[in-house]
Amino acid sequence: MKSLLLQILFPIQGDRLLADTTKRIIKEHRNKSQDRVYLKIVDLKIDRHLNNPFFNTCQENLFMKYKRILVTGGAGFLGSHLCDRLIDQGHDVLCLDNLFTGSKDNIRHLIANPHFEFIRHDIIHPIYLEVDEIYNLACPASPVHYQYNPIKTIKTSVMGAINTLGLAKRVKATILQASTSEVYGDPEMHPQKEEYWGRVNPIGIRSCYDEGKRAAECLMMDYHRQNGVRVKIVRIFNTYGPRMAEGDGRVISNFILQALKGQDITIYGDGTQTRSFCYVDDLVEGMMRMMATSDEVHGPVNLGNPCEFTIIELAETIIRLTGSQSKIIHTPLPQDDPKQRQPDITCAKRLLDWEPKIHLEEGLSKTIHYFQTTYGG
Ligand code: NAD
Ligand code: UDP
Repeated sequence: MKSLLLQILFPIQGDRLLADTTKRIIKEHRNKSQDRVYLKIVDLKIDRHLNNPFFNTCQENLFMKYKRILVTGGAGFLGSHLCDRLIDQGHDVLCLDNLFTGSKDNIRHLIANPHFEFIRHDIIHPIYLEVDEIYNLACPASPVHYQYNPIKTIKTSVMGAINTLGLAKRVKATILQASTSEVYGDPEMHPQKEEYWGRVNPIGIRSCYDEGKRAAECLMMDYHRQNGVRVKIVRIFNTYGPRMAEGDGRVISNFILQALKGQDITIYGDGTQTRSFCYVDDLVEGMMRMMATSDEVHGPVNLGNPCEFTIIELAETIIRLTGSQSKIIHTPLPQDDPKQRQPDITCAKRLLDWEPKIHLEEGLSKTIHYFQTTYGG
């Protein structure tokens, strides 16, 4: 049976209005086929509700509040899943995106929701909104996309960070920056801990992304030190799942599509390079836990799955799970392709009580199902 924790802020409402609003919200969530609703109420004068017969029928009384939350890059792969989770929790979500790599298809199911708003905007330009929290995800994330217009990529990271930090400063919002394992470059330390400063080529073809993200981390900490902005930095390792873009060139979407179409599976190099793949639901949970940490927690915190696989192992697993007849071929390794990548998630375990739950085969099966139903094959 599925359950939902419903969290409600009632600062001033009277009992009657409170009960009516709560009933409406519970009904809305039940309509989304949740079987069981747990109720959390935040009220500075909570005592006055404890004798209310309506609340006695609810299974739990706890405490929390709704927020107005901006997700930049919200129409992208990770952003759209994050919007889903925030909406499910009852928050008001402003999804900002210029649709460069994102798509309205990723958020189509949310458009009619009164708690969801789509804003078409390029984050290299300032924006004025009233929000409590900002998740800054806007940035193309796959090498194919971020190398398409590298100057725009670094502008998006740097100007995007400046604009979202300026907004956070003005409205006193907490901001979470979606950084990346790419800040470690081609690492000498394995697995990578947050203390490691990385080995990034500052002038290579990946630099627009890597250095842009490093500059964004720097800006986060400078706005915190200089202006007291509440910042949170997560370094995301390779994440996969439904809604990855078809042509983004990332290894999991490439291999699944090639396998489903019976095309050759293209391994770049000898395939002994490693990556650690995290399923999107686990990742989103980690981001939300990071946002919920107390003010003195800034990170950076690694978020990723520590189970490491070679690219050959990944190809073989996808061929087996799809039952494909595809053959593996080897093509040249792209420049500056990191040889290994595996997060040390000790910090996330300690600070967020978080670790990934979804095993690679389970996550791949869900992702294969998505590509099968969305693109055929
Ligand atoms: P994605 O390309 O699906 O999403 C990025 C979104 O940002 C897209 O919707 C795109 O249209 C939007 N965007 C790009 N430039 C913009 C701009 N100038 N203004 C407004 N919107 C803009 O990628 P994703 O995988 O969902 O990644 C989301 C974030 O997470 C990125 O910041 C990425 O660097 C980070 N990240 C992702 C991974 C991963 O494995 N998916 C790993 C590390 C870090
Ligand atoms: N890769 C591959 N074949 C593909 C796409 C990617 O062998 O069709 C390799 C790529 O060279 C890299 C790894 O898979 O070593 C992960 O690539 P991806 O672009 O998904 O992520 P990143 O390199 O940013 O970790």
